[in-house]
Amino acid sequence: MADKIIKPNLKELSFSDSVSYYFDRAAPFTNSPKGLLDQIKACNSIYKMNFPVKWGNRVEVIEAYRIQHSHHRMPTKGGIRYSLQVDQDEVMALAALMTYKCALVDVPFGGAKGGIKIAPRKAPVEVLENVTRRYTAELLKKNFIGPGIDVPAPDYGTGEREMAWILDTYMTLRPGELDGYACVTGKPVSQNGIHGRTEATGRGVVYALNEVCSHEDDMKKLGLSVGLEGKRVIVQGLGNVGYHTARIIRKYGAKVIVVAESDGAVYDEKGIDIEHLYKYRQEKKTVKGYPKGKVLADTAGALELDCDILIPAALERQLTIKNAARIKAKIIGEAANGPITPAAEQILLKKGILIIPDIYINAGGVTVSYFEWLKNLSHVKFGRMQKRFEEQTQRNFIKLVEDFTGKHVPRNRIQQIIHGADEIDLVNSGLEDTMIEAYRDIRAFKKRNKGIGDLRTAAFAVSINKIRDSYFAMGIFP
Ligand code: GLU
Repeated sequence: MADKIIKPNLKELSFSDSVSYYFDRAAPFTNSPKGLLDQIKACNSIYKMNFPVKWGNRVEVIEAYRIQHSHHRMPTKGGIRYSLQVDQDEVMALAALMTYKCALVDVPFGGAKGGIKIAPRKAPVEVLENVTRRYTAELLKKNFIGPGIDVPAPDYGTGEREMAWILDTYMTLRPGELDGYACVTGKPVSQNGIHGRTEATGRGVVYALNEVCSHEDDMKKLGLSVGLEGKRVIVQGLGNVGYHTARIIRKYGAKVIVVAESDGAVYDEKGIDIEHLYKYRQEKKTVKGYPKGKVLADTAGALELDCDILIPAALERQLTIKNAARIKAKIIGEAANGPITPAAEQILLKKGILIIPDIYINAGGVTVSYFEWLKNLSHVKFGRMQKRFEEQTQRNFIKLVEDFTGKHVPRNRIQQIIHGADEIDLVNSGLEDTMIEAYRDIRAFKKRNKGIGDLRTAAFAVSINKIRDSYFAMGIFP
């Protein structure tokens, strides 16, 4: 598998072949020996399991996976997805993307992913709980979970609730393990989670787009103004990533004119009130009948409407050879993993669309997972040691200014200014810095390597170089 070179063409590739194709395309820009490239690209461990669960008065056999793509850094890291689409090819592709994503944003983990073939919205909660607990026990049996081994997190169809079940099962089976809380991230804050993790992927997407749109020369080429202010945005998917992306991007002055969901799309040129739509959908379980704006039945067609930024935030393979030619966006931000097929990418790039690749733009989730893992290992909340100290330092400074100028700063102004960093401030600041720095690395690499053409190839090359360096540091390759 490792040395199979996939040639670019306009045929659709499987998801994992797509990731390999992107890898092969970037490899020549990395100056790495072939054996090392083969090792980086190869999938290290695949654990496929089948186990029974009681489902009402019958028993169902559940198919599940945990795949560790790369062990160049430990632990391995990546979410667990619950969906009927789960199969080995999908989980392999997603695990590989985790490897490149973590390296790109300097999160010191190997890549992994899990998947359980189950429809999370249809299965009763008790079945979901049993499946999650059994899955965790299966992982433990084979040493596929642990703070220094492999650390799951939420993905499509899972969230805090599932992570809490995983933690509880792990702690029950491994009582007294001091760092046990770091066996999974994306936990509820009350169960050793971290503030800001739930919205981290969406927030990261917005920080990334804000940085992308701040480069005047790039925006000029696209015929766009600098900054997010006034940009017309289409978001596909109102799940965790899509919802927070849409909600937060509005705070930067962008207008979300379309939200496309599986059962219909909401369109409003004035900009959609995202919280309102989200509540409506939570209550009614559909966007149909939404009273504001227009509801379009053709949800796939909604992605093809005119806009500045298109954000696919649902599943892979949404922009394919079938619809790519009709996409009118100037920028596409891949908030989902693998939403564009390589064949579609060729068409979109030819149209001059700027594609911000998944391994960069959706890395905010795993970045904050890393902060959560660090918090769990250090057994202290971020900000606890320095918050008061910072506030006192700020007060001393104001006092100094008052003494020198002989003027008093009004008390209410002081209260507004004084603010020692809370956990959420530190998390968001670390996340913003990560997204800005990584984009600058990718952009600079692309500029230095003229033939590279697109941001995805540059992002893969930057990432491969970082993985290569950690193999060199291990002394395995000469
Ligand atoms: N599932 C998320 C992703 O695809 C987050 C993974 C994590 O936090 O480990 O990046």
